[in-house]
Amino acid sequence: MDFPKTYDVIVIGGGHAGTEASLAAARMGATTLLLTHNIETLGQMSCNPAIGGIGKSHLVKEVDALGGAMAEATDLGGIQFRVLNARKGPAVRATRVQADRALYRAAIRSILERQQNLEIFQQAADDLIVEGERVVGVVTNAGVRFRAKTVVITAGTFLGGRIHIGLDSHSGGRAGDPPSIALAERLRELPFRVERLKTGTPPRIDARSVDFSGLEEQWGDSPTPVMSYLGNRDQHPRQVCCWITHTNSRTHDVIRGGLDRSPMYSGVIEGIGPRYCPSIEDKVHRFADKDSHQIFIEPEGLTTNELYPNGISTSLPFDVQIELVHSIKGFEKAHITRPGYAIEYDFFDPRDLLPSLQTKFIQGLYFAGQINGTTGYEEAAAQGLLAGANAALQAQGKEHWSPRRDEAYLGVLVDDLITSGTKEPYRMFTSRAEYRLLLREDNADLRLTEKGRELGLVDDARWAAFSDKREAIAREEQRLRDTWVHPQTPQAAAVEVKLPQPLAREYSLMDLLRRPELGYADVASLKGEPVQDEQVAEQVEISAKYAGYIDRQREEIERLQAYEDTPIPADFDYSEVSGLSSEVKQKLGDTRPDTLARASRIPGVTPAAVSLLLIQLKKRG
Ligand code: FAD
Repeated sequence: MDFPKTYDVIVIGGGHAGTEASLAAARMGATTLLLTHNIETLGQMSCNPAIGGIGKSHLVKEVDALGGAMAEATDLGGIQFRVLNARKGPAVRATRVQADRALYRAAIRSILERQQNLEIFQQAADDLIVEGERVVGVVTNAGVRFRAKTVVITAGTFLGGRIHIGLDSHSGGRAGDPPSIALAERLRELPFRVERLKTGTPPRIDARSVDFSGLEEQWGDSPTPVMSYLGNRDQHPRQVCCWITHTNSRTHDVIRGGLDRSPMYSGVIEGIGPRYCPSIEDKVHRFADKDSHQIFIEPEGLTTNELYPNGISTSLPFDVQIELVHSIKGFEKAHITRPGYAIEYDFFDPRDLLPSLQTKFIQGLYFAGQINGTTGYEEAAAQGLLAGANAALQAQGKEHWSPRRDEAYLGVLVDDLITSGTKEPYRMFTSRAEYRLLLREDNADLRLTEKGRELGLVDDARWAAFSDKREAIAREEQRLRDTWVHPQTPQAAAVEVKLPQPLAREYSLMDLLRRPELGYADVASLKGEPVQDEQVAEQVEISAKYAGYIDRQREEIERLQAYEDTPIPADFDYSEVSGLSSEVKQKLGDTRPDTLARASRIPGVTPAAVSLLLIQLKKRG
């Protein structure tokens, strides 16, 4: 049947990409339908119940700054909060949160159900309606035909999903969920490049069967960090402890003994797995000289006994899994509630996408999340938000938006994907960003809220809170610049105890704050009232301390801007550029970058090749 309503945006899939995509489109005023297999699994974390971590919390905070749901749900569902790299520089500091799986899901669902312009429908999308080169709708497995101006696909690990435990395998989207076969076949008919990847998850353990007595405890930080810029500690549920244990040489013997029945080592699985989240059999095989690997034992929630043993993801046969678990300290009598498994799925070469995440071949069709070769909830959420926003913009007849690499990790993520593609599940790290000092997790709101407001993503409450904060920072910076400390005064004496030499002349409080020995707390109250808001104080301190480095990064960005501003037409013929090697021509042809800057970032495209391209582009005029 034809559904009696046409939407601006249809989002397929209610995982981390799909929920943010549908929320973003609806916030921008687009009539939006979220079409998903099962309403009960909206916001489901397929693997470990944790949000954030290095590079990832940067994305979560960017999603938050743009009005998204992930950070808010994390504050409502988080049962252990920690700041990683707390002693290192602010650029690499990251927040990691252990979440109660059920509370997180409930928070996401409640945010979705409260969103205006957003309707949810439970059914599988089996087919796309394509007219000419434009998508105009979706057909469900029950034959309902939904029409829309744009469609965002966020099918995660479900497309052609195949689950492996030992040498047994079956079709599935993740344990307990159906795969998406019909849609995968339909997409394979379209002119996209498709390949297979794989990922895996560990067996889950019943806490009642674990002996915690000899295990190391790990508690969260105090005071408890907060994920959302609008969040606060009072929102957090009860906080709990995690534990640490280790594999040992017996565990490794058990694993080696089972490798002949491992789907990865017997060639059954062809897809490449996540390098930074390898299975335990991978770790034992690759790091043969190590006789122990750490395992973090993480509670799955406050109202369940299930534990997530982080570090022993495996697809070995179940009998081997039992033996390997029992070989680990604390797990000698552990009962496995769910076996570990690996899953192989289709992903689409992200070089076939535009910076908006619209596909190059089908107008109005966007891809976001794991379907683009990434791994992780945070990477998915960030792409979802971008794709949903751009789908709404297109439906409203407006220009697409995509942040640059110097504006957001989201910009780095999308640029990396569409420029270089990926051969293995892509995850975010701070090392992927060349402008790390600008792209900190503490300033994502300052970088993006204004743009979010302009796009219609940021509501009045967030905008008011942000504007107050931005004004408070400016006021406090002005006060520090205008307030002076004179030598041989009690104020000078108060800071001199921390300085190598007494003050030789008068200094503003801002000058003093730039000194490595002094922090905001040391200087702000020397004269006048320091600000009480921790976020404001943190921002004032970081901007003062790193002003020199930040200015240098800004100069570098300006220098490279000319390349960013040089477009390459979509029909540009690389074979015409004389002097380019055939290898470079092929690389450029495979990716078809839209700017000279993006061309320069393709691995193997040399500065000399960029100069030749520039000459040819100038000739074309
Ligand atoms: P998903 O979260 O997979 O959501 C997809 C959604 O789309 C689901 O709700 C599904 O029901 C729905 N859907 C799919 N097809 C259709 C259709 N045709 N019609 C309607 N609805 C549809 N990430 C890590 O970072 N580290 C890990 O160690 C890790 N391990 C993993 C282990 C396993 C076993 C799995 C399954 C995933 C793992 N991941 C891991 C990946 C992580 O779960 C994903 O990166 C993340 O969930 C991707 O989000 P997404 O929104 O793209 O897709």
